[in-house]
Amino acid sequence: MKVAVYPGTFDPVTLGHLDIVRRGAHLVDKLVVGVTTNPSKEPMFGVADRMTMVRREVKDIQGQIEVVEFDSLLMDFAEAQGATAILRGLRAVADFEYEFQMAGMNQQLNDRIETVFLMADVSLQPIASKLVKEIARYGGSIDKFVTPAVAEDVRRLLSKTDPLRKGPRALEL
Ligand code: ADP
Repeated sequence: MKVAVYPGTFDPVTLGHLDIVRRGAHLVDKLVVGVTTNPSKEPMFGVADRMTMVRREVKDIQGQIEVVEFDSLLMDFAEAQGATAILRGLRAVADFEYEFQMAGMNQQLNDRIETVFLMADVSLQPIASKLVKEIARYGGSIDKFVTPAVAEDVRRLLSKTDPLRKGPRALEL
């Protein structure tokens, strides 16, 4: 059985991520979406929420998909999951240097697991969780970048926690 791991922060999961999951699930018998706890990224959503969102959004995607939290070296996680490949999404040139470096170092850590890059649909290429959060914080619409349920989760979280949403946006001098 061919297993691949698609790791990420998914803070929050976007239409770009979901497109990669869809494409990846076609290629293997089982796709494990690895949601990292990685606190150094200072995620907006806790890992439990991120897992819940990813699980909910991949439910209708065809194929065997599991969503698993991980807090270890990616190659150790992949090995433990019985994976022979790591799946990463590649957007234009911006991701290349970082992904190239990471794939190279991971190859040295464990040469039995290949890193495979997939491209999302062209229309979904520019989507990045970081920008989705930034747009939402300033009250912009994120409806074109995430599912309706995720957009609602982001709005709910911001109205709870982000002073930018409650306070005045401008002094209107
Ligand atoms: P990380 O914190 O590891 O970068 P992300 O959650 O930001 O995790 O992304 C996980 C993976 O999905 C990465 O390989 C990233 O390049 C890819 N990805 C994110 N957004 C897109 C997109 N719009 N199109 C293609 N790949 C994407």
